[in-house]
Amino acid sequence: MANQPVYNFNAGPAVLPKPVMEQAQAEFLDFRGCGYGLMEASHRSAEFEPVIAEAEADIRKLMGIGDEYAVLFLQGGASLQFAMVPMNLHIPGKKMQYANTGSWTESAIKEAKLFGEVDLVCDGKAINYTAIGDVADWEIDPDASYVYLCSNNTIFGTEYHEFPLTGDVPLIADMSSDILSRPLDVNLFGMIFAGAQKNLGPAGVTLVIIRKDLAQRVAPTVPTMLRYTTHIDKGSMFNTPPTFSIYMLGLVAKWALAQGGLEAIEARNAEKSEMLYECIDSSRLYVGTVAAADRSRMNVTFRLTNEALEAAFNKQSAAAGLVGLKGHRSVGGFRASIYNAMPVEGVEALVSFMQEFERKNG
Ligand SMILES: *Cc1c(COP(=O)(O)O)cnc(C)c1O
Repeated sequence: MANQPVYNFNAGPAVLPKPVMEQAQAEFLDFRGCGYGLMEASHRSAEFEPVIAEAEADIRKLMGIGDEYAVLFLQGGASLQFAMVPMNLHIPGKKMQYANTGSWTESAIKEAKLFGEVDLVCDGKAINYTAIGDVADWEIDPDASYVYLCSNNTIFGTEYHEFPLTGDVPLIADMSSDILSRPLDVNLFGMIFAGAQKNLGPAGVTLVIIRKDLAQRVAPTVPTMLRYTTHIDKGSMFNTPPTFSIYMLGLVAKWALAQGGLEAIEARNAEKSEMLYECIDSSRLYVGTVAAADRSRMNVTFRLTNEALEAAFNKQSAAAGLVGLKGHRSVGGFRASIYNAMPVEGVEALVSFMQEFERKNG
């Protein structure tokens, strides 16, 4: 029992690739022979400069990001982006269009309303965000400041499998919980952002990919630290960046390249999520909580048809080394977050546990 593997299904901060953790440990006290740790190094040092440069280059390579986009490492989490997006990109008098598909878009909409008129292109609130629906039904206003969506709804377990075409209107996406999980055409987007702590690394850094010309929209009244242009001009070094988090993100990016890039990662994510959904769909005890067409490959949400068994499921799964399965406090039930770094063996262990639990209790 003592040596059983522990699989971490937490939604974020979340599991990181084992080889990345091992490399960070090996380099922790003496970074690549310099005699001290990277955490102790200046952000302008010969130690850190290649770390941030390589992190940016590897993210560009993985995602196929062209020179017309800046790649930034910012602070304040994805939540600060909820405000920075309208603060920088809202054009006075032109409405901002949002797709409301869960708690994280609700938070983003609340911030946007501080800056101007918000129009919802879709709203899943009435159905408790159990589906995203067809993006072809959205009425894109060609005169809108931008269109905003959240590609994967971490709490509810829905994910876009197709993105809308917004023409000349910039499309902005919060990809905090599914970035690097699949290939995508960055050119469809004016801006993509992601808090690192789901699929990219530890908490403390937010990846922002923004078309440089779009960043120029910023009004002169926006404070310096809150402008994308400031961070573009200074290469994410306007102030002290979160050096250790950027280092970890860089190791994760190298790990992703070594996995074979985003095509290979997508194939593994498909395999893992299909295994789990198949387990849910073939059982009478478990039931998925969202529309099958919109299911997330990152956050698999489900309930027990016999709610009286949920406490036992919770306790016994944790005892079996399957941790972090409790659903978000706002929705209940269960959620298995199976980000890139979750090994196939972890999902296999979860599926065996679920089948065994049903056999005993179903
Ligand atoms: C976790 C999460 C956030 C919030 O991220 P913070 O870094 O805590 O601000 C925002 N959007 C999505 C989709 C998330 O999963």
